Amino acid sequence: MKSKPFLLFIILVILACQIPSLAAPTVAPATPTLTSIVTETPTQTTTVPETVIPTETPTVTSTVAPHATRVLILSIDGLRPDAIALAPMPNLLALMQNSAYTLNAQTVFRSVTLISHASMLGGVCPSKHGVDWNDYIPSKGYAIGTDLFDIAHAAGLQTVMYVGKEKLRQITEPSSTDTFVYVNDRDLVLTERLIADFPQDFGVLFVHFGTPDGMGHLYGWMSSQQFSVLYRADEALGQILAELDARGLRDETLIIITADHGGHGTIHGTNLREDMTIPWIASGPGIQPKVLTTQVHTMDTAATAAFMLGLPIPPEWDGVPVYEALDLPVIKQSTACP
Ligand SMILES: [Zn+2]
Repeated sequence: MKSKPFLLFIILVILACQIPSLAAPTVAPATPTLTSIVTETPTQTTTVPETVIPTETPTVTSTVAPHATRVLILSIDGLRPDAIALAPMPNLLALMQNSAYTLNAQTVFRSVTLISHASMLGGVCPSKHGVDWNDYIPSKGYAIGTDLFDIAHAAGLQTVMYVGKEKLRQITEPSSTDTFVYVNDRDLVLTERLIADFPQDFGVLFVHFGTPDGMGHLYGWMSSQQFSVLYRADEALGQILAELDARGLRDETLIIITADHGGHGTIHGTNLREDMTIPWIASGPGIQPKVLTTQVHTMDTAATAAFMLGLPIPPEWDGVPVYEALDLPVIKQSTACP
């Protein structure tokens, strides 16, 4: 009874060899599509020859070839999207020309630093990561669940954090970060430290600029004082990009620039639009420059990073890769956290 499937298989192989479009993988277009990625890189464990695979419907999972060998995530604390042009932030504005971006991404409630970063990098809503505090409280431990650093580190990638607030230590266990540096100083000083000891072989590099939030609390969101430090943050961004260029890493690096929350008056933390709306700007290999129509949520940052690195996305994650940024079919989107 096993002969029929085997015969069918032989026939399929013969057919496949005679049909040029099946026998020869299509030439990779400049812009990789899902189909080309799947046919070019047989990461599936099946033993069936690849030429008969086109009968299957490819699924968009972590088995798709990675587009990026490394990911840089920059979180500019308290950056409201409408501040980018007003500050202004010329390096970020220039980067956006080559990015897939939205100025209408949404963070989680409560829109405060530690809770939202735990969702941004943990891929889950606050109810799952369990972080309900917003100070550095070591006795409370770490965000619950498998976060981006966990899966990247487990896959052998170098994981690095440079942060302007010590409480961000509680996003992930120390065992999941090869390097954790807290710099209690201006964003340009943090960047100086990063560049002085640059992790040439990083897989996931998370950089956090803390001062724009501090100036918002002191002088108000969208104040000239906050614009002033955002301009400096942008200068620091320019230095990091220049470092990636100088080291020849830019072409293989997915860069996501985002924020943990916005703000209004001298506060944030509410579910007001000014507090909840954040920028989400992605550039790098395979990313198609465009204004995204997908409703991006902050949990999508972890999911997009994992997807681009070819890492398995934990099933419990609420974040979904922003497929639209890669011109892939949008088979799934994240929804707002309850
Ligand atoms: Zn913050």
